[in-house]
Amino acid sequence: MKNTNLKEQVDSRRTFAIISHPDAGKTTITEQLLLFGGAIRQAGTVKGKKTGNFAKSDWMEIEKQRGISVTSSVMQFDYQDKKVNILDTPGHEDFSEDTYRTLMAVDSAVMVIDSAKGIEAQTKKLFQVVKKRGIPIFTFINKLDRDGREPLDLLEELEELLDIESYPMNWPIGMGRGLEGLYDIYNERIEFYRPEQYGDQRFVKLDANGELSGDHALTENSLYHQVLEEVELLKEAGDTFDVEKIAKGNQTPVFFGSALTNFGVQTFLETFLKFAPAPHSNMTVDGELIRPDEEEFSGFVFKIQANMNPAHRDRIAFVRICSGTFERGMDVTLQRTGKKMKLNNVTQFMADARENIEQAVAGDIIGVYDTGNYQIGDTLTEGKLKINYEELPSFTPELFMKVTAKNVMKQKSFHKGIYQLVQEGAIQLYKTYLADEYILGAVGQLQFEVFQYRMMNEYNSEVIMTPLGHKIARWIDPKDLDERMSSSRNILAKDRFDQPLFLFENQFAERWFMEKYPQIELHKLM
Ligand code: GDP
Repeated sequence: MKNTNLKEQVDSRRTFAIISHPDAGKTTITEQLLLFGGAIRQAGTVKGKKTGNFAKSDWMEIEKQRGISVTSSVMQFDYQDKKVNILDTPGHEDFSEDTYRTLMAVDSAVMVIDSAKGIEAQTKKLFQVVKKRGIPIFTFINKLDRDGREPLDLLEELEELLDIESYPMNWPIGMGRGLEGLYDIYNERIEFYRPEQYGDQRFVKLDANGELSGDHALTENSLYHQVLEEVELLKEAGDTFDVEKIAKGNQTPVFFGSALTNFGVQTFLETFLKFAPAPHSNMTVDGELIRPDEEEFSGFVFKIQANMNPAHRDRIAFVRICSGTFERGMDVTLQRTGKKMKLNNVTQFMADARENIEQAVAGDIIGVYDTGNYQIGDTLTEGKLKINYEELPSFTPELFMKVTAKNVMKQKSFHKGIYQLVQEGAIQLYKTYLADEYILGAVGQLQFEVFQYRMMNEYNSEVIMTPLGHKIARWIDPKDLDERMSSSRNILAKDRFDQPLFLFENQFAERWFMEKYPQIELHKLM
């Protein structure tokens, strides 16, 4: 059935991910956003370790222990005239390649920063992936209700460490116990933290000079005058607000606030929704751009989550819809195999539940029940459409484990399991050059745990894993390779495409190698 409203529906979508270092406040702000959207009724739902219908399953047990959850990895809510999709990027404990790949499925990103800590390691890593994509990045500097660092200092750090221009959309008037409000540069108003002290209105418009008119109580506070000066300075010496730069991810609008006390969050949401892009066109391997409002459905798999019931081995493939309309029960072609698939069992995710859905459009994320057909990066298409979306980038693993089968009699299921999980994109596999030993590589520790669990539950193969710790993986052109380059400070291995690489002990070992073999070029993945 033709969807006559497709363009309008697509244009109303805003699909983004929140990135942050653990504890910066991502969960808290997500909950506030969901509360605004009416998607949840109370805080504590998103990470709530609830026992739901699926509590019987062991998988849910892992999820619960680890505080991760399928149900909260994509959340949709309505706000004003927009349909907002938030994709979760888990914190360090749960960190995996999924986290990076999720960023391939969004149209913009929001970076949450703790005002006392500034840019932290995890934020930086995730930021770099977003930056490479060239999509808009919005910044929320959180925890203003606590004493943090000077706002100017934070902006400077942001520009320096992340190499991006910043534009303050608002500016704090005080912080911690002295927090009075925000000078909202973009909306030309003051947002009061304690409106009861200054009159009940939370928002007060500024006059043409950018000041509070009349004798307002705040004007007696010296902080206010300091902020007027700072804002003046920002306007003169700072970067100008540039919509084009924002669209390309070369400038980040910066918002201050406090998620916990719900201060500045609504302003952030409303302003963000104005500038966050609707779903974009997607590039195929043949260089063709597919518009989101094209009629035929298409999408790609960016994440596969092993699921629920060990007896069924089913999984959920997360699909970003790139064009057209998903209708429940529709037939699509899995381009890699040419196989026809019927999309019957498809869910969309709410904060504390999953729902079977009838319809979704480009920009939305759907969860397709999978019995082992899909791989990460797969393209699904409707009708005669014959395209493949560009491959998802591979990310350089940082953690490594040696892996063997516990029971030598069960080599067959061990190999089958490893190869399938590697194909699916759950983990990276390498073999040592000389001994053909298996080494697993991952971006985060969780990937190993999931691997071990799934090997046992889906392939009945108990594995022994020996940590090799952090390593620096660098690829080398096969024609440059001399096996004598391998030393005690590195491991020479090959990836699953038989490409050689070194796993260096540390940066020192890598530098030593580069000095010894200055003519050799070392490469990393994204
Ligand atoms: P996440 O790990 O990034 O998801 O961080 P959470 O949202 O779980 O927050 C980490 C901790 O910081 C929790 O104890 C929150 O209550 C607290 N927190 C979050 N936002 C704020 C804020 O605006 N002010 C203060 N004082 N604490 C906050």
